[in-house]
Amino acid sequence: MPHQLPRRVLALLPLLLLAACAQAPAENLPTATAPAAVQTATETTLPSFADWRQAMRSEAIAAGIDAALFDRVFAGVTPDPAVLKADSSQPEFTRPVWEYLDGAVSSSRIGRGRVLLAQHNAMLQRIEQQYGVEAQILVAIWGLESNFGNNIGSHSVIRSLATLAYDGRRQGFWRAQLLAALQILQNGDVPSERMVGSWAGAMGQTQFMPTTYNQHAVDFDGDGKRDLWNSQADALASAAHYLQASGWQRGQPWGFEVNLPSGFDYALADPDQRRTLAEWAELGVRPLAPTGAAASSRASLQLPAGHQGPAFLLLDNFRSILKYNNSTSYALAIGLLADNLLRSTEIKGQWPRGERQLGRSERVELQELLAQAGFDPGPADGIIGANTRKAIRALQLQLNWPADGYPNTQLLQQLQQLRTR
Ligand code: CA
Repeated sequence: MPHQLPRRVLALLPLLLLAACAQAPAENLPTATAPAAVQTATETTLPSFADWRQAMRSEAIAAGIDAALFDRVFAGVTPDPAVLKADSSQPEFTRPVWEYLDGAVSSSRIGRGRVLLAQHNAMLQRIEQQYGVEAQILVAIWGLESNFGNNIGSHSVIRSLATLAYDGRRQGFWRAQLLAALQILQNGDVPSERMVGSWAGAMGQTQFMPTTYNQHAVDFDGDGKRDLWNSQADALASAAHYLQASGWQRGQPWGFEVNLPSGFDYALADPDQRRTLAEWAELGVRPLAPTGAAASSRASLQLPAGHQGPAFLLLDNFRSILKYNNSTSYALAIGLLADNLLRSTEIKGQWPRGERQLGRSERVELQELLAQAGFDPGPADGIIGANTRKAIRALQLQLNWPADGYPNTQLLQQLQQLRTR
């Protein structure tokens, strides 16, 4: 689910991620919708919901929303405790990337996607002509966002967003989403009783957040409404329009698996280390198969499970997918699913399936111990971002371990021993 901030809150991704969207892996699995960073709740006392609604009503009217429409859609609306619970949950365990990919790129999803790709070929070709985004990428997004339109969520979007704008973290973000949802209703794209979505307000077959919807949803079937719930043409074309706006380059791969030479410097496997494919080739990084990408294309090297797992070079289009949902696992799943819709493609590298993932509290402990040991991992929030990866690499170099920046149990144990010395 695309939206501008962190994204939606998906399922729970592995540690790599950044944000989260409505249905993807979560925590870091961000979604095009969900708020990513954890914001501490303010300690100020909440107004009553009635008082909040009155203030929101004034704000909406000032933003051009019709007062009668506001009163109608807010009639009987109360905060939804289930939404608040979902917003505040910080799961201790997230699925390892390989388990997420097993589910996201399953043989049944590939099979269903191939059927739909063929069935909607004419429409998808027209969308590709107009927006420059390949059909298989759009079908992959459709498959992951809503299981091809079968799972669009059943929460009232107005109630969810009102709850989050009233009492959630990042209230300003949610207020903007609520205003955008009201604008969509005022446009007449959908009647309010049919405006349903994820608990975080991601809507329709492509799970757009309201602000993304307002900016990027299109009426592709020409009935005068932008209907991402019921119109496959509108939903797929809107996803294409959003990817186009996110810099998608037609004909470029999103990325591909590579082999690394022995003795490779794993410090180069970092999103900040962008090089041309020609430069990566000079370093001995080899695609497993011909890629069709220009040698001047820039890419970063990613080891989603550390040096013991598969390696991928990720090009600019991967970054466009991240704008849809800011989760590395999600974007990888989209790319791999899209590839498999065209032809079966196995990952050749072996995932370290026997390796236990650190839980959230262990990641927090890891960060605290890194700080105590004189490294600078950033705040101890359990999220393995750029600063924490850098700190892990510095420790790994000191230990003479492969410096892949990947947190694991051995590293945590090593730090625990250092402390007790
Ligand atoms: Ca339409």
